[in-house]
Amino acid sequence: MKRIDNKSDLIKELNILRNKAKTIGFVPTMGALHEGHLSLIKYSNKQNDITVISIFVNPTQFNDKKDYQRYPRIVEDDIKKLEKAKCDFLFTPSEQEMYPENDTREFDFDNLDKAMEGKFRPGHFRGVALIVSKLFEIVGPTRAYFGEKDFQQLTVIKHLVKTLNIPVEIVPCPILREPDGLAMSSRNMLLSPTERKHVPLIFKTLTEAKEKAKTLSVQETKDWVVRSINADPLLKIEYFEIVDDTKLESVTDWKNKNTSVGCIAVHVGNIRLIDNIRFNL
Ligand code: AMP
Repeated sequence: MKRIDNKSDLIKELNILRNKAKTIGFVPTMGALHEGHLSLIKYSNKQNDITVISIFVNPTQFNDKKDYQRYPRIVEDDIKKLEKAKCDFLFTPSEQEMYPENDTREFDFDNLDKAMEGKFRPGHFRGVALIVSKLFEIVGPTRAYFGEKDFQQLTVIKHLVKTLNIPVEIVPCPILREPDGLAMSSRNMLLSPTERKHVPLIFKTLTEAKEKAKTLSVQETKDWVVRSINADPLLKIEYFEIVDDTKLESVTDWKNKNTSVGCIAVHVGNIRLIDNIRFNL
């Protein structure tokens, strides 16, 4: 695997490969890699000649400065995992490299950015769009891989490439979980051992909510989820929304269960975790 910090070097290397008609799969990340990230690389390796991963903790998508400062940065560990995963290029740019000057672009997300994460993390999706559009320009991928763990982000990115006419195929990838159901996340390593014991309640609640939805209304299901999470003194729910999977508009009845997704954000001490579940079947 080649590690490159400099965008012009990466552009040169990838141009040579593109001229040989090689397809390029791209996996953008913020590092502290886990099996969830590595599964994206596996999908990319299967579908493309070359796989590029980026590791960049993007300051513009953090609305909470402390969250940005404490975000885990363990590139040397990440490199070992990437060597095993057979990744071809690792791009690790500096902040100066990605933001040589203030990027003042604004984006129209057609309200996809207004609910859920957008409501509680103002400016978050603008930051995501800034970095992803820059990275796409540098890498010029054939396909880019995004986890369904960040369901709203995936929806926003699909919209972004459509409206900006970016010629890339966005490939959604399923959520990888720990054996106890906890969605894998770089932030999990920041949990104390006690907190770690409590957080499986998040996925347990989502799974039970799917059962409850067979007899309860949408509102009753939402209320039940809030009570279930808040019954644990270490957990505090920020939101639980049931939305349709394209417009992310609130669902008010179960007429379209097949396209309904329940999205949750929970605070555990000073760590914030998100997860989601589909209500189909
Ligand atoms: P992050 O490093 O958190 O920005 O995530 C980089 C990419 O990995 C995003 O597309 C995430 O949705 C994806 N990802 C993160 N956690 C998981 C997971 N548990 N399963 C599948 N994909 C994930």
